[in-house]
Amino acid sequence: MEKEKIWIEKMPKVDLHCHLDGSLSAHTIELLAKMRGIPLVDGWRDKISVDDRCASLTEYLKCFELPLCCLHSEEAFFGAVKNLLCDASKEQVMYMEIRFAPMLSVTESLSGEEIVEAALEGLKSAKREYDIGGNLILCCMRNHGTKKNEEVIRLAKKYYGRGVCAVDLAGDESAYPTDRFRELFEIVKRAGLPCTIHAGECGSADEVRTALQIGADRIGHGIAMRGKRELQQICKKKRIGVELCPSSNLQTKAVGNLRDYPIEEFLKEGLLVSVNTDNRTVSGTTLTEELWKIRKNFKISAEELTQYAVDTSFAEEDEKKTMRQRLSQYCEKTKR
Ligand SMILES: [Zn+2]
Repeated sequence: MEKEKIWIEKMPKVDLHCHLDGSLSAHTIELLAKMRGIPLVDGWRDKISVDDRCASLTEYLKCFELPLCCLHSEEAFFGAVKNLLCDASKEQVMYMEIRFAPMLSVTESLSGEEIVEAALEGLKSAKREYDIGGNLILCCMRNHGTKKNEEVIRLAKKYYGRGVCAVDLAGDESAYPTDRFRELFEIVKRAGLPCTIHAGECGSADEVRTALQIGADRIGHGIAMRGKRELQQICKKKRIGVELCPSSNLQTKAVGNLRDYPIEEFLKEGLLVSVNTDNRTVSGTTLTEELWKIRKNFKISAEELTQYAVDTSFAEEDEKKTMRQRLSQYCEKTKR
């Protein structure tokens, strides 16, 4: 492995955009499927990941079917969160915001509270055993009705500051434009909850514009802001973080190739850009791989991107301070 990639692997890192279902390792899926009595058919491993030949977002989204089936008990949420943090700690991730949509797993016999509390136990247990910090982001879904999404906000409010750090809006932005969620995010803002919104991933710049109007504190992807200086200026002025996920953005065809990737443009404009994994298993990646991809192709330092990730994370100020210290100590110590 290249020396510099090893340096990145050992550097303390921060992952702000990571979906629980898309990041369950094959090992975890095997375990959870057995627990729930789901038969695993031949070739199942090929159905949970894509590579660069992925043709579309639709093909990408197919990979979530099996992992989602597995997330249907308290034990599953506890184990899934804990195992994900365990894997991330092995590549020196020091802090991670894990997101999922609780309403995709709520049933008559499993409540939102039970899901969130089990996931929070997973966070705590991983903190103790692997010394990795983390928070949960609860996702509202664009294709869900108001009642379900309001339930997500109620849960976020109940556990905010106790391991839940924000609300997200995920799903198909072309079929369900952000504009339809104005009232929903008024509730989020009134509750004083931070939020990040998936916008401008494969949709248009208008989605980002609306997301900014309804109070997004961070933008998930925001690729469509490319060439839109006016939107970039708003992000810069309000210190709104932009969560880029390079491999995923290439696979879902949010960008055709790396040459068109707007990371340099965003950084030049002064945006607080972080680089993240999105879906570790579906995209077949790690944070080291993502940061290395950007370093190798654009000469942008992993240290700078990690500083922005810390700055725009939803962690408490004390925790941010500790993260900054760990990062600068590592960089000082290894200075060549
Ligand atoms: Zn995402």
